Amino acid sequence: MNDITSIGIIGLGNMGLPIATRLAAAGYTVTGFDVAEAARARLVEHGGRAADTPADAAAGADALILMLPDSTIVSQVMSDAALRATLSRNQLVVDMGSSEPVRTRSLAAELDADGVALVDAPVSGGVSGATAGTLTIMVGGAARNVERLTPALSALGRVRHAGPVGSGHAIKALNNLISATHLWVTSEAILTGEKFGLRPEVMLEIINGSSGRSGSSENKWPNFILPGTFDSGFALRLMLKDMKTATALAEQLGMPIELGEAAVAEWTRAAEAMAPAADHTEVARYLAQESAVRM
Ligand code: NAD
Repeated sequence: MNDITSIGIIGLGNMGLPIATRLAAAGYTVTGFDVAEAARARLVEHGGRAADTPADAAAGADALILMLPDSTIVSQVMSDAALRATLSRNQLVVDMGSSEPVRTRSLAAELDADGVALVDAPVSGGVSGATAGTLTIMVGGAARNVERLTPALSALGRVRHAGPVGSGHAIKALNNLISATHLWVTSEAILTGEKFGLRPEVMLEIINGSSGRSGSSENKWPNFILPGTFDSGFALRLMLKDMKTATALAEQLGMPIELGEAAVAEWTRAAEAMAPAADHTEVARYLAQESAVRM
């Protein structure tokens, strides 16, 4: 089914802008809103239309994408009375941010009472994946809604239907807990090897041909940490939010998750020591500085 031709998007930041740009390039009519005026102006430069309010972004759209920082902001936006009055029965609301699965299910139930369906479709692959259309999109929702969205989402990457609404947000948070734990221990291991006299480039080449490899050794260390740019476009505070979402979910389910909790404690320590806008790859620099102080 491909009845979706017009898409509204709220949140035009590091991920929302490249997503809107790809959808516009794929032929969809894209209308976007962001609280930042500069973000709205960038959308216009990239083939979209700027909306003055969230309700204007939703008006007439077949699907309304949310690409916002977290569940609290999603709730704020979705409680806007003008936006709610605009939403109609045939429209789909698609939360592509990394929100909290339990809150996503509550929002879905609330919208369902108004006859509006919610689908969660968070992504992995970062800014480069959003720009290249190679994201992994983890979708939670009823099969018929996922089917309706699949042609549009396929312009952004590979669509994976995880289960009912909230499932995408659950697996996204769990994935990022794994990813953040990998990044931390990979950084500790490489810094230890360096102190022993090994070169990071040599270690990475060996790790990437061995069982210790991960997105941290294959992507984050070679592309953002070794060159010293620390510009992956994914903020440390957002990674920590996802980790806490995962451990909170485990706690709600009575699942012991001690290594995950330890990783949250380590990342919290780093976040407290770093600038609020720090990139998540800067944890490697933080660990290097910390180890130098301890010597
Ligand atoms: P970002 O901070 O770059 O962008 C968020 C945008 O939302 C900003 O432009 C901000 O102005 C806007 N915004 C905030 N409050 C708003 C409101 N009330 N109304 C309208 N706009 C509002 O964040 P991002 O990196 O694009 O991340 C968005 C989501 O995607 C997060 O949940 C994040 O965890 C997730 N994510 C990010 C990446 C990445 O690599 N950056 C990768 C995967 C998932």
